[in-house]
Amino acid sequence: MAETFKLTYATMFNPPEELHERFDEALEAVKARLGQEYGMIINGEDVFAAEKFESRSPANTDVVLGVFQKGTAEDAERALKAARAAFPMWSKMKWQDRVALMRKAIEQIEKRIFEIGAVMAMEVGKNRMEALGDVAETADLIRYSCDMMEKNDGYVVEMGRDPLVGFKSTNYSVLKPYGVWLVVSPFNFPSALTGGPAGAALVAGNTIVMKPATDTPFTVRLLAECFRDAGLPEGVFNFITGPGSTLGQALVDSPLVDGITFTGSYDVGMKIFRDFARGPYVRPTILELGGKNPTIVSRNADLEKAAIGIMRSAFGLQGQKCSAASRVYIEEPVYDELTERLVDLTNKIKIGDPTDRSVYMGPVINQKAYQDFKNFTEELSQAGTFLTGGKVLTDGEYARGYFCTPTLVADLPLDHRLWKYEMFLPITTLARVPNLDRAMEEANNVNYGLTAGFYGTKEEAKWFFDNIQAGVTYANRPQGATTGAWPGFQPFGGWKGSGSTGKNGGGLYYLPLYMHEQIHNLVE
Ligand code: NAP
Ligand code: MG
Repeated sequence: MAETFKLTYATMFNPPEELHERFDEALEAVKARLGQEYGMIINGEDVFAAEKFESRSPANTDVVLGVFQKGTAEDAERALKAARAAFPMWSKMKWQDRVALMRKAIEQIEKRIFEIGAVMAMEVGKNRMEALGDVAETADLIRYSCDMMEKNDGYVVEMGRDPLVGFKSTNYSVLKPYGVWLVVSPFNFPSALTGGPAGAALVAGNTIVMKPATDTPFTVRLLAECFRDAGLPEGVFNFITGPGSTLGQALVDSPLVDGITFTGSYDVGMKIFRDFARGPYVRPTILELGGKNPTIVSRNADLEKAAIGIMRSAFGLQGQKCSAASRVYIEEPVYDELTERLVDLTNKIKIGDPTDRSVYMGPVINQKAYQDFKNFTEELSQAGTFLTGGKVLTDGEYARGYFCTPTLVADLPLDHRLWKYEMFLPITTLARVPNLDRAMEEANNVNYGLTAGFYGTKEEAKWFFDNIQAGVTYANRPQGATTGAWPGFQPFGGWKGSGSTGKNGGGLYYLPLYMHEQIHNLVE
């Protein structure tokens, strides 16, 4: 790859030609081996269940990508026990040795980036650049955890010496891993949001069980293979597949779990939080949940930047990003011009096979999301006006997939329920507001607080940062109004109903969430 090119979500719009060539090669290789069966990985071994399920492409549901195991509560228990058995060895290993093994895992991921990206494009329906970005982000998230462990010298810090006469009293603060960590991930960033938390948990010295979404077992199986092939010892990581409602619930209900990172919807996350609290004591619960991300556009905004940024964040990954720009508040004097530009850009979006290099939007993830789109657009057609979209595509190449049109909705009354509800689809609502204060009031008037965007002057941007309630905020960004965070640059996490810890992944304060503190006082 061209030495000067570093792939992130902000740089993905102009990749070097070589990147496309290598993706195309990997895609052909992956297509030549579709439909195979894959096990779970428990204690270093492939494990098969009595029942199976298929992963099919949402772009063409005739295509079976792979066959996976419908794990049971017994498999959950077996995986947790394997992780428990491996914990003493893994946690007591020198942290430098753990970091060295995790850096080997990063090498594996980077070696297989095109293959994993190709599988993900087919399995999630992400366009090729978004898919490659997800894999590259996985490597960078794990690398960031390794770097933080090194930078903080294993989190062993000498504290003050007690002012005792006749004694020498030293104090150390030591961060230690909790034990067995459960990682439950969503379909939309299957690699980064499994690998990022898994990487942090492992670097910290926990052992893990990871469960992907039912829609994305294949992508996460390949990530698990990277951990395996890096030489992580048996039982240190365990990969199991199956329904959240049964297998996932059994994991959450097990007393063998010492901590959880769940990334997914608000409803499931809150249920997990409550169920996990039923244990005999409080255990750490990192929740990364949904969003209803506002963008505010001032009358002083650069409308060209605003339009492209909003379009990209509204419709990238078909609006199925927790950070999607799903609500836009526009000051009256620029409303007409901005919406006109947005409509122009949206009408140019190419929809189709997400592996095709010219396609920006692929299908939505599954039958349920497709049906949701039909229901929401029906509801919206009665309360607002479609500026674009509002329908599904069913002809020709679209006939076998879940293709929806990018939908911009105007004139929706500000008290309509869908201003506050995360639809998680390519639907964005636009409002005309008299002034910025009113926009801010609306922007903050939801239970979520994940990301937010702003377009206006530098002084107004400062006002925006001072007042917006969200964990990741952007001003004047054409690469994406509310999307495209990257570890080390924009650590990612949410306020209010969007997250539980108040500390962002890929950031300064993340790795310590996976460890508890112990003070060592020694008197001589
Ligand atoms: P989801 O339906 O909540 O599922 C997430 C995961 O939880 C899946 O692996 C699911 O398994 C599992 N699960 C379901 N019920 C469970 C239970 N009772 N116990 C344990 N696990 C259970 O979310 P999704 O549709 O995959 O992802 C979309 C959501 O994730 C959106 O709300 C989005 O905003 C959010 N998200 C947040 C972030 C963030 O960083 N804040 C990032 C990405 C996505 P099954 O698939 O088998 O049901
Ligand atoms: Mg699928």
